[in-house]
Amino acid sequence: MSEQNDKLIINGEKFIPFLSSREIQSRVKELGEEISRDYRGKVPIFIGVLNGAFIFMSDLIKNVDIECEIDFFKLSSYGDSKISSGNVKLLKELNCDVNGRDIIIVEDIVDTGLSIKYIEELFSKHTPKSMKVVSLLVKPESLKYDVKIDYIGFRIPSQFVIGYGLDYQQKYRNLTSIYILSE
Ligand code: 5GP
Repeated sequence: MSEQNDKLIINGEKFIPFLSSREIQSRVKELGEEISRDYRGKVPIFIGVLNGAFIFMSDLIKNVDIECEIDFFKLSSYGDSKISSGNVKLLKELNCDVNGRDIIIVEDIVDTGLSIKYIEELFSKHTPKSMKVVSLLVKPESLKYDVKIDYIGFRIPSQFVIGYGLDYQQKYRNLTSIYILSE
């Protein structure tokens, strides 16, 4: 990886700045405030989808001013590729009991919607009181499944992005801003 005037060159591919840390933090604050208003008087469980959502989830709940709980589960990711493999596996289960609870699924990015579809089916075997989805990023033009994303941070083009939890070959999650692959 080499950095030239904010650009990132990774394996010869050019990533350019897309969302600054300041823009992300400001939107995450708004999302946290909106969720706090919607869930006032309730104690939701935020369920993060590992690995990508861990940074977003951490910042999001710091902006939530109601009582809440957290848990995580892990789905198989794209692996080393930039393209969805088209199938999803559960790699780590939840530890909490979601029955009768208000749950909020926290995703880093919704691309085809396959992961969210898989999650909806997973929870259809349980009886949460309610289930909503918050995703920092959504690629509307890539959606292939009919899924409802209740809270959206940013709608973005169908291009590969990294940083702020999002990886490329498991790296670059620690970038504080988001970079997009330049075409
Ligand atoms: P979907 O199941 O909606 O097709 O994709 C969701 C998952 O694919 C995300 O949780 C994330 O792991 C991965 N993904 C989709 N688009 C991108 C992207 O642009 N960058 C990165 N790093 N991961 C992505």
